[in-house]
Amino acid sequence: MKVIKHSEQALKTALISKNMKLVKLYENLESREKSLLNEAFQPDSVLFRPITLHSESDWISSHPEPTQDFEQFYNDPYRSRPTSEKSTIYVQPIGSFGDTKVSTEDYMKWLKDYCEAFYYSLTVKILEPVPVSHTGCAFRVNEYTCNLQIHAGDILKYLKKKKPRDAFCIVGITMIDLYPRESWNFVFGQASLTEGMGIFSFARYDSDFYSASYKGRLKKVKKLPSSDYSVFDGYYTPAVTSVLLLRSCKTLTHEIGHIFGLRHCQWLQCVMQGSNHLEESDRRPLDLCPICLRKLQSAIGFHLVERYQALLEWMDEDGNGMEAELRNEAKMGLLKPIEAFKECREWVLKCLDVLQK
Ligand SMILES: [Zn+2]
Ligand SMILES: [Zn+2]
Repeated sequence: MKVIKHSEQALKTALISKNMKLVKLYENLESREKSLLNEAFQPDSVLFRPITLHSESDWISSHPEPTQDFEQFYNDPYRSRPTSEKSTIYVQPIGSFGDTKVSTEDYMKWLKDYCEAFYYSLTVKILEPVPVSHTGCAFRVNEYTCNLQIHAGDILKYLKKKKPRDAFCIVGITMIDLYPRESWNFVFGQASLTEGMGIFSFARYDSDFYSASYKGRLKKVKKLPSSDYSVFDGYYTPAVTSVLLLRSCKTLTHEIGHIFGLRHCQWLQCVMQGSNHLEESDRRPLDLCPICLRKLQSAIGFHLVERYQALLEWMDEDGNGMEAELRNEAKMGLLKPIEAFKECREWVLKCLDVLQK
C-alpha cells in the first residue's frame, strides 16, 4: 500500500493559496470554519487522512492527472457557477428504481434530501421518472455480461432537450448499465460539464452485479429490435439496501461536483477522489476534504455549520434512536436504511464538534 503524503506546507497552500486576495478571503471566514478547514494540514488530524493506493489499478496510478488547488479552481474561467436565476439541480430518474419493498419515490426522496444537505442552500428537484422508451435511446445486450445497456450519449441528447430554464444542471440517474459506443464494454457515467448535464448508472453498484447469479443477465442473448423497448418491462432492479443508498449518494454528489468544476482530488481522502473500481469507490469517504469543501463553499456560499447540521439531520431522520417497532418498519423498506452511514455519522459529529467549539 502506498500513501500519498503531501507536506503540511503543500496542503496549506492548496487550501489557502499564496495569492493575497485569496488569503484575505480565507482570513475573513469565521474562526470556527477556519478551525475545521485547517485540519487539512494538521499532521495527526483524525478528520482528514492522506490518500492510500492499494493497487496499480487504483485511479491515481492508472490515470495521472494534474492536481487542482483552491486557487486554480477559483480562477477557472470555464467552470459553471450557480446564479440566482440558475440554481436548481434537477435529477431525472430513467427506468425503474427499487424493488417491491422500496418504491422509487422513497429512494428518490432520500437522494434529493441528501443532495440538498450536501449542496446546502441549493434546491434539488426530482423530475417525474420516465421509462427508457421515453428517451428514444439506443440499447443493446452486453456480449460479456449479458445485461441490458442503454446508450449514454443518446440519454444526454434527451436531457439537453429537457433541461429547465432555471437549472444549474440536470443529471440523469438509472439502474440500467450504460455504454458510450459500440466498441466499449461499459461506462459508469458520461457528462458534458459545459452544458451542465450528466447521466450516471448505479447498476454496477449492486453487490451482485459481477456474480454469475446476477439477475440482470438475459438468458438468451439475441439481437434486439431497436424500437422495441418491451425488453425493459419488468427488467431486474436491485433491492435498495443501505449499501446501495450509500454508494448512490457518493456517486451522485461526486458527479455533480464535477459539474461545479471540482476536479479529482489528490490531496486527502475525499469523495472527489477518482475511482476505477467498486472497492476503491467504497474506500472513498462520503464527504469532501477541506480543500474541496472550500471550493464548494466559494461556489455556493453556505455556512459550514449549517451544512454539517443538515447532513446529520439527514442521517438521523427516520433512522437513529428509533424504537424497536420502527426498526421493523425499516426492514420493511418504509424507513430510510441508514445502517451503512454509521461511521459517516460519527465523522459528521466530530466535524460539528470542531465547528461548535
Ligand atoms: Zn470523477
Ligand atoms: Zn478533496
